[in-house]
Amino acid sequence: PVRVRFCPSPTGNPHVGLVRTALFNWAFARHHGGTLVFRIEDTDAARDSEESYEQLLDSMRWLGFDWDEGPEIGGPHAPYRQSQRMDVYQDVARKLLEAGHAYHCYCTAAELEERRDAARAAGKPSGYDGKCRVVSPEQRAAYEAEGRASIVRFRMPDETITFTDLVRGELTFTPENVPDYGIVRANGAPLYTLVNPVDDALMEITHVLRGEDLLSSTPRQIALYKALIELGVAKEIPAFGHLPYVMGEGNKKLSKRDPQASLNLYRERGFLPEGLLNYLSLLGWSFSADQDVFTIPEMVAKFDLADVNANPARFDLKKAESINADHIRLLDAKAFADACAPWLRAPHANWAPEAFDQAAWEAIAPYAQTRVTVLSDITANVDFLFLDEPVEDEASWAKAMKEGSDALLRTARAKLAAADWNADAIKAAVVEAGEEHGLKLGKAQAPVRVAVTGRTVGLPLFESLEILGRERTLARVDAALA
Ligand code: GLU
Repeated sequence: PVRVRFCPSPTGNPHVGLVRTALFNWAFARHHGGTLVFRIEDTDAARDSEESYEQLLDSMRWLGFDWDEGPEIGGPHAPYRQSQRMDVYQDVARKLLEAGHAYHCYCTAAELEERRDAARAAGKPSGYDGKCRVVSPEQRAAYEAEGRASIVRFRMPDETITFTDLVRGELTFTPENVPDYGIVRANGAPLYTLVNPVDDALMEITHVLRGEDLLSSTPRQIALYKALIELGVAKEIPAFGHLPYVMGEGNKKLSKRDPQASLNLYRERGFLPEGLLNYLSLLGWSFSADQDVFTIPEMVAKFDLADVNANPARFDLKKAESINADHIRLLDAKAFADACAPWLRAPHANWAPEAFDQAAWEAIAPYAQTRVTVLSDITANVDFLFLDEPVEDEASWAKAMKEGSDALLRTARAKLAAADWNADAIKAAVVEAGEEHGLKLGKAQAPVRVAVTGRTVGLPLFESLEILGRERTLARVDAALA
């Protein structure tokens, strides 16, 4: 059975790279009817925070991910927060030390640095040189008498490590490129290098799917796994697949600090979770050669690691927006109206809550649905319905209110006052007013639109006026003429 894990560290706002990793793991689990384990890697007290943990959970829920084991739901391998599993890691570290797979290393940072520099200068590999692999009891006593602290270091076997990456194929690492590495700090705190594979082993993870940035830790983890199998802690080495880098502006790796990388940005702008996930799924994977808009269930049905590409993926905000716009169009009327609701109220909207009119909103919503790229676009499209006075967009007023606009508006006002109040009759009134002044419809409607909505572009005008109502329409035309 497939068991995958999503195991972020709660260190700040979730970013899109993290979401892509979660998505691929989730889709893989769901495609195979497997289990998604959600684990919180919060062993770094200096960087992790409870606030980030809450945000992480909230983001996962917002994105629509569910998990089979993890926070809030528990499971057979609970607890799923590493900060609550310290005794587990201590126990494994002790076993590794006893079996000789790990050793105490007394080298100080200054000594390590000095030897690293010397190795570099001599053109030799600059990783840990194995000095403390063998420490005599006398030497150990001397170190301890000096008050030196020790870390626990894993002893890498002297062998080449080869594995078949699920994305990149066969990869080989020679021993000089994978030196012995720290697994427990001098203060006793276990490191990522230990806790991550130990939990993967105990939680019986079958496939590790994660970002390419973690590729260099894989040979270390495979060696550690072998030791854990020998100790009876692990059963099998999982398969590993490394998802390609995501490149941002200027073909540089998208960094966590890049504003475009922040999940919150997409939420605040009103991306739909399914639109964002559809886009993120294309970072390293493709649905088919000629289709890049699809639903999440369609993605899950088709998701196959064989289709994940090892080449770096390029993050393209415009494409993300265009896919999101397509997803907005796919919503049924009620779902669209509901999705926009938060933007139609404070703090997003600049009108008083009581000015909001649900019936008017439902009437205008179908016209707006095809025009918004992100949900936050909705306010500018419909604000004319809820504001006491239209916005005063100076550029729009300057553009539409030319010589002759007043005369046109006066004629249009008279005709609108007498017209039946429906879109067709409203249109006929504006057409006639234009004819009287020798203006085509496009020219004739521009001042009407600006007088009523404040802008030169917007939703279909005559339907908008019908929904706004005769009284408010005429009052706005009067105000523009005053
Ligand atoms: N906590 C690690 C991270 O967020 C997990 C890495 C992994 O998937 O092994 O980078």
